[in-house]
Amino acid sequence: MGRKVLILNADYRAISICTVPKAFLLVYLNKAELVAESEKERLRSINNSFASPSIIRLNKYVSVPYRNVVMTRQNIFKRDNNTCVYCGKTTDLTLDHVIPKARGGKTHWENLVTACKRCNSTKGCSTPDEANMNLKYKPVKPSFLMFVRDCSGKLEEKWLPFLSKAR
Ligand SMILES: [Zn+2]
Repeated sequence: MGRKVLILNADYRAISICTVPKAFLLVYLNKAELVAESEKERLRSINNSFASPSIIRLNKYVSVPYRNVVMTRQNIFKRDNNTCVYCGKTTDLTLDHVIPKARGGKTHWENLVTACKRCNSTKGCSTPDEANMNLKYKPVKPSFLMFVRDCSGKLEEKWLPFLSKAR
């Protein structure tokens, strides 16, 4: 699988990803403009080398339906980068209800986080405040674009400011 290009809507919200050739075509056809180039890669022909797109923006606004991400254990781990939100550990992971179920905490994106088993059992039936354990970030319902990774499995850093605005 080749490198991907992030597509922004005319209002700069991330809406999709595509392949490099498709991005080139959109820019060539004047349907999109180049927003950021890839530093990792240049495209070469016999005589020239071209900047390869990393982010493009559509010239015309398109309305896009909301795409839901299914809430599963694996997707919560993915959202949290397979990292315990309390201590940063990346192994021995489980799911933690931020507000414990026994205290009325719901099973939804905003109340479920990735935690290592140790933090999970230390926290027990307490809220993070009571247990004096801080979450490194506030859990949110992810956009499907949060799961977009480049071929090495990393998230393109350049994409981040746009992904946080994605729907
Ligand atoms: Zn932990």
